[in-house]
Amino acid sequence: MNLIASAKRGIVTEEMKTVARQEGVTEDFVRRGIAEGHIVIPISPYREVKICGIGEGLHTKVNASIGTSTDIADIEMEVKKARMAERAGADTLMELSTGGDLVEIRKRVVEATALSVGSVPLYQAFIEAARKDGAVVHMREDDLFRITAEQAKAGTNFMAIHTGINFVTLDRLKNQGRHGGLVSRGGAFMTAWMLHNQKENPLYSEFEYLLEIMKEHEVTLSMGNGMRAGAVHDATDRAQIQELLINAELADRSHAAGVQTIVEGPGHIPIDEIEANVILQKRVTNGKPFYMLGPLVTDIAPGYDDRVAAIGAALSSSYGADFICYVTPSEHLALPTPEEVFEGVISSRIAAHVGDMVKLGKREADQEMGHARRDLDWERQFAVAINPERARAIRKERMPADADTCTMCGDYCALKIVNRYFKF
Ligand code: SF4
Repeated sequence: MNLIASAKRGIVTEEMKTVARQEGVTEDFVRRGIAEGHIVIPISPYREVKICGIGEGLHTKVNASIGTSTDIADIEMEVKKARMAERAGADTLMELSTGGDLVEIRKRVVEATALSVGSVPLYQAFIEAARKDGAVVHMREDDLFRITAEQAKAGTNFMAIHTGINFVTLDRLKNQGRHGGLVSRGGAFMTAWMLHNQKENPLYSEFEYLLEIMKEHEVTLSMGNGMRAGAVHDATDRAQIQELLINAELADRSHAAGVQTIVEGPGHIPIDEIEANVILQKRVTNGKPFYMLGPLVTDIAPGYDDRVAAIGAALSSSYGADFICYVTPSEHLALPTPEEVFEGVISSRIAAHVGDMVKLGKREADQEMGHARRDLDWERQFAVAINPERARAIRKERMPADADTCTMCGDYCALKIVNRYFKF
């Protein structure tokens, strides 16, 4: 029996118990969330993973996307990225390779991590068609579904599937006009295939068949955001909203069929449109877990996009987004290095925590840090820090003459001066 069926029958599974313990909520809260489609736990019958609950009332989770490209296809580097992401505290990993031996790379990454792994099966289907028949537009529909099942059997826990792109969506995109074009690889592949073949997106027209595969292999369906804006000037446009509405309707069918479902969102969003995007998405999907990609709140800071996305992610999380896809400093410029993956995860974790301080009222760690700083207790500060290694290394590199203080103010340490007079 799958998780939704168990939850609906009132059965609390081991996975639900684990999430309840991790999150400090009741087991019944998690069970009800799964039964109602507000919480998912991506699992796989083919692979044991570190259990991670995503959705309403739970901590905001962080995903790190890795994967090769046609220019840089180094398996060892991807394995290193997977380990770096896990070490930095990512909650899930997406393997999005488009270069090299796609099956082997995914296998090695899945073996290298205990985290839930996500994939985008249409990448492999389109790329195999391009390699074999010369262009992505020659992709065969049967191959798309075959590869989806194969990736599930290889231990993929969740899959981003571009279900919301149909001819209505494409009409909206064409009539809308855009400043930043179409930036989703999956969206671009599917758009080209549909227009070239004048055929409906099989992931939309054969949705019931897709659900059978998802259900059989207990894969969590993450409804892809192929129309997301790639520039803040295109945020919340008609094409994005059209795709969201289709995905929202399909998400209800998916949950009713017993398939755990997440709905993805944009993208690039100016800061004053984030709240509306979260409310709209949550409302039309009937509270399905919301997977926010970024979002980037300005387009003019290449080299710092992890920070740009962290601003957007903190706000998104505070308004109710449940799951954040990290962005690395090399976004829009190059394939990230393992070190940049680490940086991206840390930036996203900071954002998720900042959001949770509002969304869940989680402020205990900040209070603890305030006390540790007041007491000049450096070990306690490192223990609470999101990245203790970095904090410790910076201090060690520039140690003060008086070990109580730091080299910022040295002899004139405000805390030390006042601590002589006040017992807080
Ligand atoms: S020296 Fe200045 S910055 Fe450092 S702990 Fe004291 S008050 Fe804070």
